Amino acid sequence: MARIDLSNIKHAYDAADTDESKFALRHVNQAFEHGGAYALLGPSGCGKTTLLNIISGLVHPTHGRVRIDGNDVTDLPTEKRNIAQVFQFPVIYDTMTVRQNLEFPLRNRGVSSADIKRRVDHVIAMTGLGPLAKLRARGLSADEKQKVSLGRGLVREDVSAVLFDEPLTVIDPEVKWTLRTQLRELQRQSGMTMIYVTHDQTEALTFASSVVVMHEGQVVQVGTPKDLFERPAHTFVGYFIGSPGMNVLPTKVEGANMKLGEYSAALPWAPRLKPTAKLELGVRPEFVKLAGEGIPVSIERVEDVGRHRIVRTRMQGLAVTAILPEREELPASPHVVFDPEGVHLYADGWRVEFTGGRAP
Ligand code: ADP
Ligand code: MG
Repeated sequence: MARIDLSNIKHAYDAADTDESKFALRHVNQAFEHGGAYALLGPSGCGKTTLLNIISGLVHPTHGRVRIDGNDVTDLPTEKRNIAQVFQFPVIYDTMTVRQNLEFPLRNRGVSSADIKRRVDHVIAMTGLGPLAKLRARGLSADEKQKVSLGRGLVREDVSAVLFDEPLTVIDPEVKWTLRTQLRELQRQSGMTMIYVTHDQTEALTFASSVVVMHEGQVVQVGTPKDLFERPAHTFVGYFIGSPGMNVLPTKVEGANMKLGEYSAALPWAPRLKPTAKLELGVRPEFVKLAGEGIPVSIERVEDVGRHRIVRTRMQGLAVTAILPEREELPASPHVVFDPEGVHLYADGWRVEFTGGRAP
């Protein structure tokens, strides 16, 4: 197992491209610690696969270095990096049986027969491929083939890391949950460094202890699921993570106060901001309380989602979403109150930090 360091990675698929704002990866500095369970989370096209392929060596970055345990591997081919990768769609040998497919990565490296049997049996048990072990891969369903692919990624014990690129896309939803739980368990037991790419927040938050959120070729935040919920570093994180996402509202800052029409919130101190910065107030619906007093709102829609209700309101012309806990009633004359714990100030999309207890 190993630590992976990406420093100043940039990537353009078109070598003639000089506009860095359009690069597939714009500026990535990221460490993956030894034995960590990471999720790489972001919408389609944000650069997740590119980043994974740069780690495994399938793509050579336009700029920057990749290090594994401190050794620069940027110019090494995939097979010299000792990394297992599971792709979105099955990559297996159709003419081999399921068992032979799983044995292959080990045979290739001269592992002893006893060890091959032990490892392959383990992976077969984990993926539930037992009944299919003797069948040729050709006849399997897409779902079954992907399990073989997943097994091939997990069969080696000597790898530096296992990379998964949306591995459960073609897997049946019911089996998905089980496989994800098993992967997580395997990660815990083995202490393998795993990086799991997904665009699904539930998948990311259940798999990883550390979630790397990507947006337009950049890493915008790395944190625990709790960090991403409580302190979104970028408005994108607030909006992308959470259901529904964070309310992002235009605001003004006057001295040490954040203002939104008649609403005013005290900041710890007057922040130093670029005069041209776009200022926004972020508050998750969980921190918007409906009350009899506060800022008056009109209620546009109420969605019952089982455990609680999502209340879509309009406040001073702006859409504001609130979550109404179970058993709470809508006030007759609706107003909203923002819980100060959950109110954040953003300048040009980035959260303004008030840490250290006093003005810098
Ligand atoms: P994700 O995996 O997050 O969906 P990708 O890493 O596949 O994102 O893609 C990032 C960006 O790079 C996208 O704009 C995509 O269109 C572009 N891209 C990906 N692969 C290639 C390629 N082989 N050639 C040219 N552009 C590509
Ligand atoms: Mg992808």
